Amino acid sequence: MSDDCLFCAMVGGQVQADVVHETDTTLAFRDINPQAPTHVLVIPKVHQPNFAALAQHEPGVAVDLVNAVAAVAAQEGLGENYRLVFNTGPDAHQTVFHVHGHVLGGRPMGWPPG
Ligand code: 5GP
Ligand code: ZN
Repeated sequence: MSDDCLFCAMVGGQVQADVVHETDTTLAFRDINPQAPTHVLVIPKVHQPNFAALAQHEPGVAVDLVNAVAAVAAQEGLGENYRLVFNTGPDAHQTVFHVHGHVLGGRPMGWPPG
């Protein structure tokens, strides 16, 4: 738990989230500003700022997070057609510094991302 972290507050129940999937170590909820028909954020319950830090300090939870992404994609009917994005750092448009994977799907997507 980190003070002043929005996603820690969701894990703690102090901020409401539209939860679609939960395990002992992960939480998944709909993005408040969806960029695709399915846009779910998958987070570890433990606070780490980005995916590399999570893998370094909590490798088991990093695997749990990827498995949770697959479960969300299956649950949302995306099959193996989705985009998993970890914006990392301000220049990559990370705005919440508690690692989160964006699971985006339900529409065709282009490349490169903006
Ligand atoms: P980032 O830009 O850090 O990769 O992604 C942060 C995401 O969190 C954004 O897509 C934004 O819409 C989402 N977000 C910000 N505040 C809230 C909130 O209060 N509730 C939910 N469900 N999503 C939020
Ligand atoms: Zn946090």
